[in-house]
Amino acid sequence: MSRQTIVAANWKMNGNAELAAQMCRGLNDEKFNANQQVIICPPAPYLALLKANISNSQVACGAQNINENEKGAFTGEISALMLNDLQVQYVILGHSERRAMFHDSTELVAEKVAYALASGLTPILCIGETLEEREDGETESRLSYQLAPVIAKIGIKSFKDVVVAYEPVWAIGTGKTASAEIAQQTHEFIRSYLASFDADVAQQVPLLYGGSVNAKNCEELFAQADIDGGLIGGASLNVEEFKKICQAV
Ligand code: PGA
Repeated sequence: MSRQTIVAANWKMNGNAELAAQMCRGLNDEKFNANQQVIICPPAPYLALLKANISNSQVACGAQNINENEKGAFTGEISALMLNDLQVQYVILGHSERRAMFHDSTELVAEKVAYALASGLTPILCIGETLEEREDGETESRLSYQLAPVIAKIGIKSFKDVVVAYEPVWAIGTGKTASAEIAQQTHEFIRSYLASFDADVAQQVPLLYGGSVNAKNCEELFAQADIDGGLIGGASLNVEEFKKICQAV
């Protein structure tokens, strides 16, 4: 079966109104494969601007996080309802920077994924091991440790509405990409882990690779059987480079 291919931009805490405008202009006239989705995840203040200026039906927007509560006294937080209000469809959850710096535990990530789904959003669930974990042969146990609470919380059937991004922590922002071979092996493991719960669902879930993807290395990564696209950080801040990556999938 052919899975949807996805290239998502994670701007993190970067960019400005000018980049948002340039990105819209750059992507509006692009032609993508029929089954392809492009997603821009800017900092929250720019979501409305992007939504208002994107006219390409294959380009969507996403947030970089949500709070697990509907509303209330949570200063600085963003709710799923607000994303619904802006018709933002995607949300990145469990990014390693949030897990490491903002105490997003595996249980909290599972709660956020459940809440996002209940609110009609599509979560882009990020998982990945550190260099130490990889060197200690703990990659697979780390990835299943991160996936298990989400499966327990939402049920495997709901994974058909989830995008999973494999992002080895050692490759994020370091310029050190996982080789296509390592990335494929790890994606294959993630799909087989999901398949141990439900083989059909596992075949449907788009698995994105993230970690120092750029216009030069993307083609080889995207050519792998279990890599359905990418989550792009640094290289998504350059419109021309991001367009090339979108065309490579
Ligand atoms: P990078 O970031 O492409 O800059 O390595 C990817 C990510 O953290 O999503």
